[in-house]
Amino acid sequence: MASSKHPSFVWWRGERVAWDDATVHVTDLGWSTVGAVFEGIRGYWDDRSEQLYVFRLDEHLERLVSSCRLVRLPLRYSAAELREATLELIRANDSREDTYIRPMVYLADTSGKRGAQIEQNAEVLINTNTMPSHLQTGMAQRVCVSSWTRISDNVMPPRAKNFSNYRNGQLATMEARLDGYDSAIMLNDRRQVSELPGACLMMVHRGKLITPDPQQSILESITRDALIRLAREELGIEVVERAIDRTELYVADEIFSCGTAAEITPIVDVDHYQVGDGVKGPITTRLEQVFHDVLRGREQRYAHWRTPVHAAVAVGV
Ligand code: PMP
Repeated sequence: MASSKHPSFVWWRGERVAWDDATVHVTDLGWSTVGAVFEGIRGYWDDRSEQLYVFRLDEHLERLVSSCRLVRLPLRYSAAELREATLELIRANDSREDTYIRPMVYLADTSGKRGAQIEQNAEVLINTNTMPSHLQTGMAQRVCVSSWTRISDNVMPPRAKNFSNYRNGQLATMEARLDGYDSAIMLNDRRQVSELPGACLMMVHRGKLITPDPQQSILESITRDALIRLAREELGIEVVERAIDRTELYVADEIFSCGTAAEITPIVDVDHYQVGDGVKGPITTRLEQVFHDVLRGREQRYAHWRTPVHAAVAVGV
């Protein structure tokens, strides 16, 4: 690390670049980001093995490739090249703490150009920053159902991690915070539960885990997929993917949001309806424990979800 404020390097335009040298001309701002897509990936540090484990790196890069395809951005690196670049960058930055990794593909050389630019040059920036996990810290949220509707498939593609999509969630978050809530649950254009800004939603009712299916204008979340599998395989819980009505939230036993940044965040109040006992529920607690152990490599199964970054430390010498 160059300083506590930022890491030493980014990966940009095909090579490792020193932080201070990674600059663009101010006239490039504007159209460059309206057309950009990105990924948010986490690496989890484990003190015991002195290792940083990147969670589901390949799945994130696959989604980046498919986001590019959806918005017609010509990506000039393969997923394998981006994988290597990402790992090399984390090593160069000597990241030995919980780390967030953001690969971003954006329109290059847009100064003076307007509108839809098919086959425009696209460039890639990968940067990392420290992001401590909040799992098992007791964090919980009180939320409202937003007056803003979640973008729908024929408006802005919810299944792409498209920067422009995020204005929708920002409006919902700003409204929620000004009204005294921590965050918001957004309904889709059919008035069914979709997701939160930047996170998917899961609820527990009568012992079942229920989550909106991929046709509810959700981002197909990699965390959601992992938790569905862990709930079924490790906790033996029935998981149902289906449309959820707003009022089901008000009678749910447990609710939590999930995502790379959100991890598992318990929701203890929706529109001033207390959820369950108003604290993190028992199924959420069990799922959080197994998820934590998988992320930090304390659970040997699911090793295919973890990419160790640093050279293995010799044991017993
Ligand atoms: N929805 C949106 C809009 C998101 O930005 C995210 C975070 N990537 C999620 C859901 C959760 O997805 P994931 O688990 O893949 O991070």
